[in-house]
Amino acid sequence: VTYCRAVARVTLVEDDAAIRVALTEALTDRGHRVFAAGTALDGLRLVREAPPELVVLDLGLPDIDGSEFLRMLRAVSAVPVLVATARDDENEIVATLEAGADDYVVKPFSAAHLDARIRAVLRRSAAGSTAGPITVGELSIDPRSREAALAGRPLVLSRKEFDLLCHLARHAGEVVPRRELLLEVWGQQPFGEDRTVDVHLSWLRAKLGETAAEPRYLRTVRGVGVRLDAPPPGGR
Ligand code: CA
Repeated sequence: VTYCRAVARVTLVEDDAAIRVALTEALTDRGHRVFAAGTALDGLRLVREAPPELVVLDLGLPDIDGSEFLRMLRAVSAVPVLVATARDDENEIVATLEAGADDYVVKPFSAAHLDARIRAVLRRSAAGSTAGPITVGELSIDPRSREAALAGRPLVLSRKEFDLLCHLARHAGEVVPRRELLLEVWGQQPFGEDRTVDVHLSWLRAKLGETAAEPRYLRTVRGVGVRLDAPPPGGR
């Protein structure tokens, strides 16, 4: 699970096709990557095949009851679950939370409301994780507070610059392919020549006080990707 982003890979389980399409579009517009299923069994299959960072679950499904789905899911995954229910029934909401849901929204809700709840669940799951600040050389990156510093000096980063630095720091010492960065940081499928990663890398380099020609932390591996690493001791 990546805690670097305020957006997530989401599995949406919703049998109403119109709601499913509308929510998929709305959440995608807000930067999430959405995989949607129309039945509980398809939803469970999706969770297995492409483990999400969050599940949005409609309780009224044609094949399996929502709380039964939750029990089956919890047997294999601890992924946060946000339940979307049409039934404003306190007993059912309590039962769902006891079955392992993290939060719920009552229909009808706006996409903005759902998105806010998703971000809140992600923040809580990041806060409850052991993901503390990441240190690479003199760089420190805190995914929870979304703050970064170099040699104790705070870095002023845009949201995407922070996400990019954080993702690279989580994989410090490894070459991270450009297509993975596009997917994980921007939620985009790589398509042809894309300068997005390079442009943000050059901005990030400027803020770290280095250049592509004279890298310290950020090294481009031609044709492969980018590696974040502590500068060698005594080196510049
Ligand atoms: Ca339904």
